[in-house]
Amino acid sequence: MLECWLILRQIITKETLMPKTFLPLDSSLYDYMLEHGVREPVLARGLREETAKLEFSAMQISPDQAQVMAMLVKLANAKRIIEIGSFTGYSALIMAQALPQDGQLVCCDISKEWTDIGQSYWQQAGLAQKIDLRLAPALDTLQALKQQQQQFDLAFIDADKENYSAYYDICFELLKPGGLILVDNVFWGGWVVDLAQQDADTLAIRDLNQKIAQDPRVDICMLPIGDGLTLARKKHAS
Ligand code: CA
Repeated sequence: MLECWLILRQIITKETLMPKTFLPLDSSLYDYMLEHGVREPVLARGLREETAKLEFSAMQISPDQAQVMAMLVKLANAKRIIEIGSFTGYSALIMAQALPQDGQLVCCDISKEWTDIGQSYWQQAGLAQKIDLRLAPALDTLQALKQQQQQFDLAFIDADKENYSAYYDICFELLKPGGLILVDNVFWGGWVVDLAQQDADTLAIRDLNQKIAQDPRVDICMLPIGDGLTLARKKHAS
């Protein structure tokens, strides 16, 4: 009897916790959102469409996520951004465009082939002077920036998942108080809640999600956009 009650209580609690306003995003609603909530620059669209033809096109963020990120850059009044994992440069193009004229974006990647595509679009968009591409393992670049005591207002982490936790730690140190870390792919296609998935990437993302949830140094928010985007804002010293 007690067991039945416990199960019933679990069901009731789950249903109570699911917000009444939760609305699954079907394709017609998604299209509506793109039409009414996204202003994608022509060049960005061209880059996104060119990237869509590539084998690893799923690594590119969606236009609605790009819109959120551009808004965050502006809301945070960011002047200096660090991006870890640039792929073909779409997110960098979007964020650089949202930066003020004297803003700077440091991009970390290891692929010349992919970032060459981005560089061509950055130049066409007149943004090349804002973007400092570092072709090297990101941890090396981050360590060098730390040694130079460089500081950033915003960090976007979207590279190899096994190093996610290390990227988070060093980005936290590079951020000014009040600065924002964005972590991409925090849902990992839903595998974060599928315990049958025990591969290294899934475990790394689960570990970082847990770590951020329990990190008292940051304010947090996990957005169900794209493949899940976590916002972690570095608190000011109290
Ligand atoms: Ca991603």
